[in-house]
Amino acid sequence: MASQRSTPDVDVAVVGAGVVGLAVAAILAPRCRVALLERHHTYGLENSSHNSGVIHAGLYFPADWLKTRLCVEGNRLLYQWAEAHGVRHRRLGKLVIARSEDELPALEALMRQGRENGAPGLEMLSPGEVARLEPHLRCAGAFFSPSSGIVDQMGLMRSLLQEAQAHGALIAFRHEVVGLERAEGGFRVAYRGPDGEEGELATAAVVNAAGLQADRVGALLGYDPDGGPANPPFRHRFNRGRYYDLVDREKASRLRHLVYPLPNSDRTGAGVHVGIDLDGNVHLGPDTEWLPDGAPLDFRNDDSARERFLQAGRAFYPDLRPEDLAPGQVGYRPKLQRPGGPPQDFLIWHDRGYVHLGGIESPGLTSCLAIARHVAGLLGRA
Ligand SMILES: Cc1cc2nc3c(=O)[nH]c(=O)nc-3n(C[C@H](O)[C@H](O)[C@H](O)COP(=O)(O)OP(=O)(O)OC[C@H]3O[C@@H](n4cnc5c(N)ncnc54)[C@H](O)[C@@H]3O)c2cc1C
Repeated sequence: MASQRSTPDVDVAVVGAGVVGLAVAAILAPRCRVALLERHHTYGLENSSHNSGVIHAGLYFPADWLKTRLCVEGNRLLYQWAEAHGVRHRRLGKLVIARSEDELPALEALMRQGRENGAPGLEMLSPGEVARLEPHLRCAGAFFSPSSGIVDQMGLMRSLLQEAQAHGALIAFRHEVVGLERAEGGFRVAYRGPDGEEGELATAAVVNAAGLQADRVGALLGYDPDGGPANPPFRHRFNRGRYYDLVDREKASRLRHLVYPLPNSDRTGAGVHVGIDLDGNVHLGPDTEWLPDGAPLDFRNDDSARERFLQAGRAFYPDLRPEDLAPGQVGYRPKLQRPGGPPQDFLIWHDRGYVHLGGIESPGLTSCLAIARHVAGLLGRA
């Protein structure tokens, strides 16, 4: 890829081939000329493949937040997409439980919030209904979310990539965006290619879907990540989420639905829950842990949280033993929230052809197609 021309090579350059960048490319490619630049040798190697794979219903945030609106819309779009494109998924349903009587008011409040948000079909369960759905589960109360499910993240990303390519999008793996500047007709995107060579691409618009690195990419264009007259604050703080896999087959076969506790009070995460993947494997997690600024992002699990997971896991499996757990995957939340501070919405911010996607943590996977449609609208390509 190289350009010396002042007329754009493409209409939209998308930075980052995670699930969000791929969804943006898939939605925009039938409408305009798209180039997608990804620094790794393939798509989805960061957060989009290190998550619970849950298609969320939209329970956890206020009704007018993007995290809610795009999740509720994204849930519907994702099931439609998965069915139309043969992406493996299951509408498993999820129970949110109160572990003790004193959690019941919060359980009821969360269900009310979910209903207000438009999450379909939520219903409080009687003890008999809980026992029928999950005979092995002990809890003080539960509600059921029938539209919660699971999706094959890599399969979803593959289908989005294929859709974008089928409509002529240029996909450039091993192309790291290292510079961005405004130019006649839009922007010049400087990249470092596979052999370390540098090049430029001229584009009318830029969508920054760089996930964890979106704040760094935004800064390339001269915006201040801490906010200023030209832009809202968008600096990320990272919060780690670790998983442990339940390797005892008998225990892993006990629960048939996703089972969640109430979320953390500061909403840093949805709480260590029982996740089931499409192969029937059970994963406990993710926990939440703030990282110091500048700490390296290591996607390996160092097994230092086994004791904590044992305690959390006994809410679902009272007889859980240390040897039933094996260290699982690790993901990192790009947070606009600060330790001890209130939760923050997605930041989807548009300035003269530049779209910034900041703080795209959960439910970003669920919301990917709705985010993509929203971005298309901002760029006048709806
Ligand atoms: C522990 C955990 C559990 C989660 N569980 C769920 C869940 O169950 N359901 C749900 O809906 N959501 C969930 N999420 C959220 C979801 O995983 C993310 O919102 C989503 O994957 C974000 O996708 P993305 O494309 O924005 O980012 P990423 O997947 O991180 O992709 C960004 C891409 O940009 C590339 N990039 C960065 N800088 C550059 C550059 N300079 N040049 C070129 N490329 C660059 C990166 O290499 C990367 O490939 C979870 C998140 C975590 C951390």
